[in-house]
Amino acid sequence: MERPLDLIAGLLAPVRCAICTGELPASQRVGVCPACARRWPAWRCPPLPGVDNRVACGPFDGLLRGALLALKFGDQTWRAEGLGHWMAHCTRTDVPAPPRTAVVMPVPLSRERLRERGFNQAELLAVHAARHSGRALDVTTLRRRTHLSSLAGRNRSDRREILGAYVCTAPAPPAVLLIDDVTTTGSTLEACAAALREAGAVTIHALTCAGADDLAPPLPLEPGRGAATGHTES
Ligand SMILES: [Zn+2]
Repeated sequence: MERPLDLIAGLLAPVRCAICTGELPASQRVGVCPACARRWPAWRCPPLPGVDNRVACGPFDGLLRGALLALKFGDQTWRAEGLGHWMAHCTRTDVPAPPRTAVVMPVPLSRERLRERGFNQAELLAVHAARHSGRALDVTTLRRRTHLSSLAGRNRSDRREILGAYVCTAPAPPAVLLIDDVTTTGSTLEACAAALREAGAVTIHALTCAGADDLAPPLPLEPGRGAATGHTES
């Protein structure tokens, strides 16, 4: 349990941008700073079989890449709340936006990888994206069957293996918002979508913090989007 003085110090400490670690404006208690929000509006990603719409908050590059690597490998899990908050904001600018009833689900890790890392970065992001977007969270239905060493540079038979790597342990909700930290080829999201559809999901949106494949130009800003950094969700 935190001591009262530590709690007070925590409340008085400046709140940092989850991407550049710069101090956030006084009116903002969580998220990314105005400069980062302007630099990375939501980006549309190439279509994937089984996924109705896929959006990345930004390209896997520069400070955003650094922030995600720090979250995943650098023990900087504090970044998850700000990034999840930012992802929640991106769900409001998707075209078409994921339904309000969409249940947020992280891409699961294998048991081996979870043991090794101690946490699932996609789940950390999903927890905060769900909370800040007012959607339900489900971290148990979608499971990973096997551990595959790396998805990079895999050939076609490996890709078939990936497609069978996920399974649902219960009926899936009709609408799902899949969350991951970064996509490269999209095979993982495609495999998750296949498992979800088999379990009854009808509408599947995917949202990643970053995309490493070909991203289309930013989605058009909506009125009020300029308030991206001062938005009011908790
Ligand atoms: Zn920033």
